[in-house]
Amino acid sequence: MTTQQSGVWLPVDCHAHTTFSDGQLTVDELIDCARGRDVRPSVSDHISSYMDNAVTTVDETRAYLDALEQYDVLRGGEFCWHDSLWREIPSDLASRFTHRLGSLHGIWLPNGELVYAFSRRFPNVTPDEYMEAHVANLEHFAREMPVDVLAHPTLLPLSLRPIPLEELWTEEREERAVGALAAAGIAFEISNRYRPHERFVRRAFEGGVRISLGSDGHTEAQVADIEFALSLARDIGVADQELYDPLRHGSRTGYFMPRSKRVG
Ligand SMILES: [Zn+2]
Ligand SMILES: [Zn+2]
Repeated sequence: MTTQQSGVWLPVDCHAHTTFSDGQLTVDELIDCARGRDVRPSVSDHISSYMDNAVTTVDETRAYLDALEQYDVLRGGEFCWHDSLWREIPSDLASRFTHRLGSLHGIWLPNGELVYAFSRRFPNVTPDEYMEAHVANLEHFAREMPVDVLAHPTLLPLSLRPIPLEELWTEEREERAVGALAAAGIAFEISNRYRPHERFVRRAFEGGVRISLGSDGHTEAQVADIEFALSLARDIGVADQELYDPLRHGSRTGYFMPRSKRVG
């Protein structure tokens, strides 16, 4: 079984999407795709009230977990920090996830305005002003949100993407982000889709933050493609066995013990 630990170490793709949200593959197709790439699969669909193609309610979250429990696959979910649904998930459902991801798809500015990462509209602030708000949101997220992984930590609004990540993420901002993640016990994802710069990943690793691999795949070409992420992790000295694996390292909120020993 690919989700189980066996003699041979295989990497885990902790972040991939199916037709439960905006992915193109069914759960069966995602599992086959990952197996073909010698990767252990997760399903981590969008669970957010405002998205069109997503799990959008508590009842739909229950149905999603009911369905995933029929498969040999890790059960994740990608929750948006700025959305309210994650706050409404009852603990009996929270504990059925093997791992949960949190995403900064929307950032609150000090004036209450919300800036979406995928919108062409950008507020009347400088890149530096935006980045200060981004890091403040990240710190707040790390203190408050019960997740195991910060998905694509360097995802930024479309308008800022032409600017090099190393400039937007000053070393001081990287330090603040790493400090917040380390204090919370939240892993730093190396995303194949929104690729982080090496300095930030190295700083996270050296700051005691666990590293997680994620394809953020939505198609057959993308799901379980974590070669970039795995080779960057190895380059900076992360041992394979230390890469985030929900079955090995547990979850802050999820399922990682026999049903009989679970509380509640
Ligand atoms: Zn995302
Ligand atoms: Zn995603």
